[in-house]
Amino acid sequence: MLVVMKSTATEAQIEAVNEKVKSLGFTPHAISGAQRIAIGITGNHGKIEPSHFMTMGGVAEAISVSKPFKLVGREFKPDNTEIVINGNVIGGKELTVIAGPCSVENREQIIEMADVLSSMGVKFLRGGAFKPRTSPYAFQGLKEEGLVYLDEARKRTGINIVTEVRSEETLPIVAEVTDIIQIGARNMQNFALLESVGNTGKPVLLKRGISATIEELLMAAEYIAHQGNPQIILCERGIRTFETYTRNTLDLNAVPVMKKLSHLPVIVDPSHGIGMWDGVAPMSMAAIAAGADGLMIEVHASPDRALSDGYQSIKPKKFAALLKKIEQLAVIMDRSLSLQPLREMEIS
Ligand code: PEP
Ligand code: MN
Repeated sequence: MLVVMKSTATEAQIEAVNEKVKSLGFTPHAISGAQRIAIGITGNHGKIEPSHFMTMGGVAEAISVSKPFKLVGREFKPDNTEIVINGNVIGGKELTVIAGPCSVENREQIIEMADVLSSMGVKFLRGGAFKPRTSPYAFQGLKEEGLVYLDEARKRTGINIVTEVRSEETLPIVAEVTDIIQIGARNMQNFALLESVGNTGKPVLLKRGISATIEELLMAAEYIAHQGNPQIILCERGIRTFETYTRNTLDLNAVPVMKKLSHLPVIVDPSHGIGMWDGVAPMSMAAIAAGADGLMIEVHASPDRALSDGYQSIKPKKFAALLKKIEQLAVIMDRSLSLQPLREMEIS
């Protein structure tokens, strides 16, 4: 249920509603919005009678919420959530681009990539240190050593870091280095991990599970939000279908659907979505045209030598050309893309 307060409601009246919610054994959540003050209620297993609140001072409406996800749903909060990371807004008018290699492979590779991307005006560097690989024999990432290089890349260029956490044990060290904690597709329903990242209070990039429905993704986001952390970015990265020619099927339907159902920012990862480097540019454009708030793209200087996901990685020069096209498309979509370099450099 959502209790919407009158614009004239006093602090004392809001507090009285909070107390009433607690006295019924439920949890109140302050929902901030430009237009209204509201209190969302969770913890109820059945319907709550609106009459509990309708007679209270300062209450305008008590609305039943029909969706199973509440804190991340638009019924609770009609305004878009904007996440601000070191001055960069995710989920606002400006598009967000996260780029970098699938894995951190060595110091030189990630430092060079941070230099190149920051010179193109990219504000977020991705790179996995703890890799969730299908095969136990595949490269598992540099782990702690990878985090050290990501930290160095950030300090050197000012670029923000996005890296995946694979387990609860390593969460503290990952959270210390990264600006956005990535939850990979394979961990989307690792509920203990979701709750733990919710407790860090750090922005979270939550990738859609390989066979997860949109509703399951939103319920996974609800686990994070329920810990008091509303800074969640939803990421469509393709789902498994009967199609085998592509690695996954990038479900761009999910973009307008999730934007309608949820106030959270939605970004798209076309690299994992299609799984082949020459499909990344068209699917990036399609994602922005579908209304995505941004993109996550795998970029590698020598894709043929990459230790993971080389086939779907694009080279910096191709990526630079794609950014220019996205900049133009952004105008049509009433968005913008700032390519103000963090540093000057030749791109080869
Ligand atoms: C990745 O981003 O490199 C990755 C492992 O993605 P996903 O979890 O979507 O497979
Ligand atoms: Mn990858």
